[in-house]
Amino acid sequence: MPNQSETYENLLQEIEQLKKRVAELEHTEQKNLSLANDLNTCKEILQKTFMAVPAPMGMILNRTLEEVNPMICELTGYSRDELIGRNSRIFYRSDQEYNWVGEEKYSQIDKYGIGTVETIWRHKDGLLIDILLSSLPIDKKDYSKGFIFTANDISSQKRLKNEQISSEERLKIIFENAPDAIYLNDLKGYFIDGNRAVEKLVGYKREELIGKSFFNLDLMTGKNLIKATQMLARNVIGQKTEPDIITIHHKSGKKIKVEISTFPVTINKERLVLGIARNITKRLEEKKKLRESERNRIFHIQQSPLAIIEWDLEFNVRQWNQAAEEIFGYTAEEALGRYCNFILPKKQEDKIEGIWDTILETKNSTNSINKNQRKNGDIILCEWHNTPLFDEKNNIVAIASFAQDITERAKSEELRSVLYNISNAANTAQSLNTLIKQIRDELTTVIDTTNFFVALYDQETESFSLPFFSDEKDSFTSFPAGKTITSIVINSKKPLLCNKQELDERKRNGEIDVVGSMPEIWLGVPLQLEDKVIGALVLQSYNDQNAYSDSDLQILQFVSNQISLTIQRKNTEEKMAQALQSATEADRLKSAFLANMSHEIRTPMNGILGFTSLLKNEKINEEERLDYLSIIEKSGKRMLGVINDLIDISKVESGITEVILSNFNLTDVFNYTFSFFKPEAEAKGLELSCSPGLLREEAFIKSDKEKVYAIITNLVKNAIKYTKSGQVHFGYEVYNELIKFTVTDTGIGIPEENIDSIFNRFVQAGSLPTNNLEGVGLGLAITKAYIHLLNGKIWVESTQMKGSAFYVEIPYSKGINIKNTEKMDTVEKGNKQKNKLKVLVAEDDAINRKLFSYHLKDVVDELILVTNGTEAVKTYTETPDINLILMDLKMPEMDGYEATRLIREKNSEVIIIALSAFAFETEKNKAKQNGFNDYVPKPVSKVNLLKAIGNYFEV
Ligand code: ADP
Repeated sequence: MPNQSETYENLLQEIEQLKKRVAELEHTEQKNLSLANDLNTCKEILQKTFMAVPAPMGMILNRTLEEVNPMICELTGYSRDELIGRNSRIFYRSDQEYNWVGEEKYSQIDKYGIGTVETIWRHKDGLLIDILLSSLPIDKKDYSKGFIFTANDISSQKRLKNEQISSEERLKIIFENAPDAIYLNDLKGYFIDGNRAVEKLVGYKREELIGKSFFNLDLMTGKNLIKATQMLARNVIGQKTEPDIITIHHKSGKKIKVEISTFPVTINKERLVLGIARNITKRLEEKKKLRESERNRIFHIQQSPLAIIEWDLEFNVRQWNQAAEEIFGYTAEEALGRYCNFILPKKQEDKIEGIWDTILETKNSTNSINKNQRKNGDIILCEWHNTPLFDEKNNIVAIASFAQDITERAKSEELRSVLYNISNAANTAQSLNTLIKQIRDELTTVIDTTNFFVALYDQETESFSLPFFSDEKDSFTSFPAGKTITSIVINSKKPLLCNKQELDERKRNGEIDVVGSMPEIWLGVPLQLEDKVIGALVLQSYNDQNAYSDSDLQILQFVSNQISLTIQRKNTEEKMAQALQSATEADRLKSAFLANMSHEIRTPMNGILGFTSLLKNEKINEEERLDYLSIIEKSGKRMLGVINDLIDISKVESGITEVILSNFNLTDVFNYTFSFFKPEAEAKGLELSCSPGLLREEAFIKSDKEKVYAIITNLVKNAIKYTKSGQVHFGYEVYNELIKFTVTDTGIGIPEENIDSIFNRFVQAGSLPTNNLEGVGLGLAITKAYIHLLNGKIWVESTQMKGSAFYVEIPYSKGINIKNTEKMDTVEKGNKQKNKLKVLVAEDDAINRKLFSYHLKDVVDELILVTNGTEAVKTYTETPDINLILMDLKMPEMDGYEATRLIREKNSEVIIIALSAFAFETEKNKAKQNGFNDYVPKPVSKVNLLKAIGNYFEV
């Protein structure tokens, strides 16, 4: 523990220290007081200074404005009151800037004790002010005491600085960034400097360029190099060069087109050349493309077959292509700028305004067909397509029109329709006259038909009749063919188009005589019917020499063909109507014929069968038997007659009837006919007379005996048949190299209307009031056919109920007297065989074989019957003493011809007589040529048979 003294000491020390401390404190207080005074003074001074300092200044604590001097207020536009206590953020444009300034400043103060930043403040009225802001802490160690700051307006300094930059740097910047290549070279062409664009342009770096000339860089060759040299030469003498295009080689080898201008300049007293170059390769290509497309466009417009016209909004021509020139006859020069009505006929002007209005209102295209007028005044028909042209804002800026001349097309369409109507009319017209009228009406639309006529040529009168005639000047119904121009068309069978000069010339040459007035132009085409020209169609004009052309000629030819077709059609129709009528008639006749035939065959058949069965009755007496037999014979003959007629008409119709000329005695034929029909006539109580025109000795003629006989027989038979009482007379006379037969009767006669038809086949049954009489209506048809074959004719004169006269004329050809040779095949009596008659009959029909047995039983010594050719040959071979063979021609297995040929091989002497039902004349000749001695037609009568045998044997 300390002692007192120590304590005192200590206390004294403490007091002493306290005294010192007090003294110190007093001193300090004194000091402080003075300091405070100083401070206040300072503060005051500072305040005053602060306020008076001619720079914007203020105090800030925690970024809040503590004090500002008037300069700050002046700088920022705010009053002191508005600023004190406000955050300095008020001066800044954005938080970002405000923060950045704070951070930058503090960091500088930390580092350097003072912070200075350049920033931008905003004046109260919005103006921006460049500020150099400096801040100094009041207490370096204690930032919480605040900061003094100055804010210097550096806007004008900055502007000044910027200006300074532009004069130096800007030039550089501009130089570097210029899109054009800018370079400097000396007067020898060596590069001194160049901008980036130069590098880009030529592909060389600046370092590669500088110090080199365009010669040693091979930038240009040939005429481009010459051009560059010339430019340099101009610069050397102080001239600038106008922009010129030079092709240079890029470092890559690519050729580029460059537009260069050069200027002589002096820099630092050195004369240099400033060059400005621009790559125009692309531009040139585009230009080329543009030119090409423009060329194409122009080409298309010019080559277009359509007129292409562009109109401005006032409808004046802006563009007018080649086709427009051709269609409308105006050159582009004449058309450009003209209002659209110059290509319109007067009447169309309103219509066009309507079309334009529609386009402008609707903004749509229009199509129309308009009449237009060419420069020469011709009216043409055009098809138009008009379409508006728009700018990018969809405003109409012009109208494009496309037009084509459809005059010809319309004309040919019209023509087609006219021709169609004409050919329609030709198909339906009822008469030639109506057709021609229709044709003329139709033609009027395409051709001038004022003067139009149809001339039909009449060969007999050698004149033209005019079923249709229309003329301004003349009026004819016919005219003589003579030397008319129409005759030339008829004779040449060719169309003719002649103008007045040509007509005059033909007239002068005597080639033609002009009937009626002389036309300016004449057009005629022949009217042909198959190969024959039957007339002509003629058009003529009295006032227009060009009224008709070749195309009109063709139209008229078409018309002529149509008329010909119509005439042909009419003829065919008539023929068809006739054919139909005759077919109907033939059909009716056929039915009538069949009915009659059936009657004509059935009636005799009934007789034969009926009386044959009566004959079987044993009780009948001899008289009755003979009566029955005669009926049977008559019926048989009647049937044979029908069959013979049928065969004869078939032969005539199939054309195989031949004329076989021989010498015979006509008077004999008449006398025989007389004897033949006498009993029949007498039986009917008729007086039959015959008057041959020549004595028997003179009556030999050369003709077809069978046919002459058939003609007379048929006529006499009919005369007796159709005469109930009175006379039948027949005869002949010879005169003028003709033989004329006459057969007259006092019978029922023939109604006048039937006189022509009785010669048609089958005309009888039901058609005439004689159908209750026998006959099938073939007799006269056969007769007439035979007469024609003999080159003769037949006609009839008849009065009903009084009688008929049939006349026949055939050529007379005097024959030789064949009195002794008439039977050519007759064997002289002395040559006839008298030996035993051993006969072979070859016949396949059993009834006929039986008939031969009956006919021959009294005249032959031995009769052998066989049924075919084979057997005949065999029998004859086995029995060679057979001296007569009757050979049917048509047999099974082997026919008569073959059998005879084989027999003849063995024996040429044996008599072979052919038997045939073939009723053809040729058959007889054929038989004789094939080894037969004679020919007997079937049905074989005993008389005929014995007559034939009698020619060779004594029977
Ligand atoms: P058919 O006598 O078989 O009937 P035709 O051909 O011989 O046939 O004669 C045709 C028609 O002519 C007869 O049907 C008859 O009406 C008429 N005819 C022929 N000859 C005479 C005549 N002499 N007198 C009256 N009419 C006759």
